[in-house]
Amino acid sequence: MRKLKIVAYILLGIITLLVAAGFGADQYIKSAEPMNRDRILKSAQYDGEKFVNAAPMPQQGLSFFPKMIRQQMFEKMQPSAPKLPIPVQTITPEQLANLPANETIFFKLGHSSLLLWIENEFWLIDPLFSDRASPFSFFGPKRFHPTPLSIADLPDIKGVILSHNHYDHLDKASIEALNAKVENFYMPLGVGASLAQWGVSADQIHEYDWHESVNVGALTLTATPSQHFSGRGLSDRNQSLWASWVIKSSQHNIYFSGDSGYFSGFKDIGTQYGPFDISFMETGAYNTLWPDVHMMPQETVQAFIDLKGSVLVPIHNSTFDLSVHAWFDPLEQVLKYSDEQNVKLLVPEMGDPINLNAIPELKTWWQELM
Ligand SMILES: [Zn+2]
Ligand SMILES: [Zn+2]
Repeated sequence: MRKLKIVAYILLGIITLLVAAGFGADQYIKSAEPMNRDRILKSAQYDGEKFVNAAPMPQQGLSFFPKMIRQQMFEKMQPSAPKLPIPVQTITPEQLANLPANETIFFKLGHSSLLLWIENEFWLIDPLFSDRASPFSFFGPKRFHPTPLSIADLPDIKGVILSHNHYDHLDKASIEALNAKVENFYMPLGVGASLAQWGVSADQIHEYDWHESVNVGALTLTATPSQHFSGRGLSDRNQSLWASWVIKSSQHNIYFSGDSGYFSGFKDIGTQYGPFDISFMETGAYNTLWPDVHMMPQETVQAFIDLKGSVLVPIHNSTFDLSVHAWFDPLEQVLKYSDEQNVKLLVPEMGDPINLNAIPELKTWWQELM
């Protein structure tokens, strides 16, 4: 059995290389012409060739890939996916049509995707409705559970907020299918070129550098720092920016971490934009091989404290297998450290409507599936 698995991984590695080489000249790999080149060149985050983090990152050597393959083969914790179905509450169009006015309600859709009802409009964050977080429909991490609703069942969307261009956050098929329903798209500098290639009109694409804000009705969106990287292919690494977001309404202040390693920026964001009523924090896909660009659960809790959060909602887990931890490990670990630090943790089921004016008690639904 073990031998079979090893052969499968080696084959998978060869297929990945062949596929990458084969697609070398096509849209998956080639970086698109940026829409705001002059603003990119002036950005404090751009070093003349690429976007960079606030703190210098150690360079990954060539030994990274053999280490990663070895880890996948020998150190992968099981179960990497749930054996029983993850509970998903279906969201119906009728339900969405009857949400209470002037309340703020969010629904987890899976991984880092959120549907938000705020200032009497619908918003999506990092929407991913496809079966895989991958450039390919037949290959790559496959979701554990269906989305609580389909794109067809969504009402008109005031705006889509994007954190960065990785496949598990920016999904081509989802953007193409959503386009007709969405008024505007908000994203970090450099991300818009992909959307434009996929048919989103230039006047719907709005790009921001860190600490730049935009008012949309009574909402203020601010792109804030994160410590991460970007790229969808072999030649576009760090050619677009990554960000976290602050979403401030007339009633609530919300933080969405995007993907990030732990860094001093959380404290600064807390001081400048906090406190937050709710913080959606990356908790999952961590790995000792990439400690700078994703947080360990203990760091997620510390980042939440640094930010001056009041309710912590872990995102980036329970939908895809993107590292070597068991699928439930992010939730078990974040629960442990939240308890230790007296942090209020909320892990809603997928599709469960959460009203920010009536935060429920924590339900540890995943423990029934462990
Ligand atoms: Zn990412
Ligand atoms: Zn991610």
